[in-house]
Parts: sequence; structure tokens; C-alpha cells
Amino acid sequence: MARATCARCGMHPNTCVCDECERVDNSQRVVVLQHPSEVSHSKGTVRVLRQCLARIDVLVGEDQTSFARQGLEGLLSKTRTGLLFPSADSQPVEGGATSDIDQWLVLDGTWRKAAKILHLNPQLGQLPCFHFADPPVSQYRIRKAPRAGQLSTLEAVAHLLTLTEPDTDIAPLLNAQEALVRKRLAFVPDGHRDSRHQASGIAYACGQPQCKPR
Ligand SMILES: [Zn+2]
Repeated sequence: MARATCARCGMHPNTCVCDECERVDNSQRVVVLQHPSEVSHSKGTVRVLRQCLARIDVLVGEDQTSFARQGLEGLLSKTRTGLLFPSADSQPVEGGATSDIDQWLVLDGTWRKAAKILHLNPQLGQLPCFHFADPPVSQYRIRKAPRAGQLSTLEAVAHLLTLTEPDTDIAPLLNAQEALVRKRLAFVPDGHRDSRHQASGIAYACGQPQCKPR
């Protein structure tokens, strides 16, 4: 028998939180480059971002060809885009150098997969690159032991919007993630919350072990 899934997010009702996703009227567009391995991941937070954010594009792929097919070049050409990813030459978002940025590129995947996307798309290395000097503590409790500064993709976007467009109410994002955590903890037995499918996340503070020169 076919498994019942939500028509909007494609997830099983036990992990769908679409009914709890309220709209966030962000003014800066968010473009997510999502690694294919994250697409059907029940722990992923991009589906929540997609339901909530007024301005978002999600492009799934790894190499230049797949992103070109989905129009990445066009998305980058019309705007001043900042890349949120810690690197040897990234600047802190808190440092105030973001005033001319009107679109943000974020990567969804494990750090290794995100780094691979960057490696295969050298044009992204031309974008101004940012990290958080002082990231919040992750509330994404599905993950066993998050590294310091490690955030879900949703938390990274929420914090980014808090810093760069403080008048936008990002509470619906965090509320929807909390619903995701509640459902996950309610429906998945303890023994299955193992490390085989850890929720992915990137440590967005510079100086983390994963933040090596490119
Ligand atoms: Zn849904």
C-alpha cells in the first residue's frame, strides 16, 4: 500500500508540520542550494523554510550543470548576493558589511557535502562570504551532540534575518522547527534516534574545526 504523504512537503503525516508553518515576509531573497542527499530527509528543515518564507528558491544539485539548469546564474546576476559559509576569508555578518547585500545564498547539507558544492561551483567563490561571530545555541534537539556554533539550515537563515532585517518577525520559523522536533521526538522511538542519520548542520562560526582555508 502506498504510504500517505503530505502533498505540500512530501513527508509522512508524523513528520509533516505544514499546518504550523506561518508566513514570514522576508525582504531579502534566500536561495538554498540543497545537496540531493537532503531532499527526502525527514529531519531536514528546508521544507519548513520553503513553507514559511515569502521569498525563497530551493535549487537541488551538486555540480554546475544541475544548478545552471535550475537558473542559478539568472538568480545571481540581478542581485548582490552574499554567501553564508565560514571560510578563511569570510567576514562576520555582525560586522556591518552586509548593507549592500539583498540576497543570501545558503547551503543545505553536511559540511562535507556543502564544501563539495562549493568546490564544484567555483563561481560561488567570487561572492562575498560571511559567518556568524556569535551564533545562537541550536535548539534543534534531534541532533545528538551539535558542535558549538552548529545550526540547522532553518536556524542559520532565522539568525541571518534577525541580524540583517530586524523588523522581520522570524518567530514562525523557530515555532515550526520546534513543532518538527516535538513530532520527531513523539513518533520516533529512542532506539532509532541514532547517529546513522544525524540531522545535518554547518558550524557557522569562523574558527571552528571545519572552517579551513579553501
Ligand atoms: Zn507537509
